[in-house]
Amino acid sequence: MWSTLRVVLDSLNKALKALFATLPDRRRGDNSTYAMGDFGSAAFAVFFTQSPSFLSRQTALQRGRGTSNCQTLFGMEKIPTDNQIRTMLDPVQPEQLFPMFDKSVTALEAGGGLDAFRRLGGHVLIALDGTEYFCSQKLSCTNCCERKRSNGKTEHFHAMVSAAMVAPGHVRALPLEPEFIVAQDGAEKQDCESRATHRWLATRGPQYARLRPIYLGDDLSSRQPTCEAVRAIGAHFLFTAKPSSHKTLYSWLDGAEVPTMQQKIKQGGRFVTHRYRWLEAVPLRDGEDAMLVNWLEIEIVDPDGKVTYRNSFITDLPVNESNVAELAACGRARWKIENENFNTLKTKGYNLEHNFGHGKEHLAAVLATLNLLAFAMHTVADLVDAPWKAARAAIGSRKRFFEELRTITSYLVFQSWGALVETMRSGDPPPAVRDG
Ligand SMILES: [Zn+2]
Repeated sequence: MWSTLRVVLDSLNKALKALFATLPDRRRGDNSTYAMGDFGSAAFAVFFTQSPSFLSRQTALQRGRGTSNCQTLFGMEKIPTDNQIRTMLDPVQPEQLFPMFDKSVTALEAGGGLDAFRRLGGHVLIALDGTEYFCSQKLSCTNCCERKRSNGKTEHFHAMVSAAMVAPGHVRALPLEPEFIVAQDGAEKQDCESRATHRWLATRGPQYARLRPIYLGDDLSSRQPTCEAVRAIGAHFLFTAKPSSHKTLYSWLDGAEVPTMQQKIKQGGRFVTHRYRWLEAVPLRDGEDAMLVNWLEIEIVDPDGKVTYRNSFITDLPVNESNVAELAACGRARWKIENENFNTLKTKGYNLEHNFGHGKEHLAAVLATLNLLAFAMHTVADLVDAPWKAARAAIGSRKRFFEELRTITSYLVFQSWGALVETMRSGDPPPAVRDG
């Protein structure tokens, strides 16, 4: 039974291994001890298994059994040390790993998993968000950004504009390639972030046009240049727009007759009211060249009449009574990227970075990219990999699933991902792997 399970992860790992093998090898002389691909696979395996001790456990298995899960699951030949991984991955440009993000989307599409992300008549929501993924007063590299703290100390940090497919109604998110924010002399933090957003849209946006994306972003995004950048690639936007930063737009609303709609929604044991207002063709800013956008607002009112939540958005999509509630739900889904997924990712990233240190050039960005790729492949497996899904369902929480994965891969060598997840699902031991 085990050997017949075809797992999407096997083919994704194969594609990843092929990509790692193409990374430039700066070693001179005799390179035969380790294949270049082993360094990328080794770091990826740590993120994918969510286990900082994965490589040392596999090295111990290898010693005792002559083989390990590094070979069988991740296609590695040998297991390099953390030091070797750091040295070899530090010069790698993270962008060289980016083709794997589109491969994840393609695997999701092929497996029918993209439907979970379709909203508003077949569109896909892509949330863009500025995120810091490293911060230290001690460690730094040539690509760190810097800022002074109030205590006079200099803090080094790395930031990126992260991109992820999200949707209201479920907790899944699929990370896409990020755009790294690089230090620019004299530029403000916000300026760097919005420039990175524009770079993402111009360079990454076109390849996702087939998904008919609607871009989600925070109040920083809801300025005319970013809205125009989205329209320029034929996509749509649905951005948070706060009253404090959109004075012209809100003064326009003051004098207008604004349509409203409300719905009673059961929340826990009681009903709350979702109240919507919207208006089409409102100027985004002052001046004759102002873009006209469509505005919408949601308020959540508790049974005592108290407003417990309020948010407002601008979009280039039509807004009316029949779609305003879905538009607001989609706009709010942007919070997933911060709350449900990327915080876990960031916290885990901080922990796992201790394995490899900070590097001198690109290591921090390479590790962040591998972390995002691991997360993307988890999401693909969660949605379209039947044997993986069955194991996830049998075990319950995500946390416990990875605890069990860590534990059993420490003691047993599995011939394939199919054999591993089948053991996790059924509790039956796998067929023995012959000693190498
Ligand atoms: Zn750095």
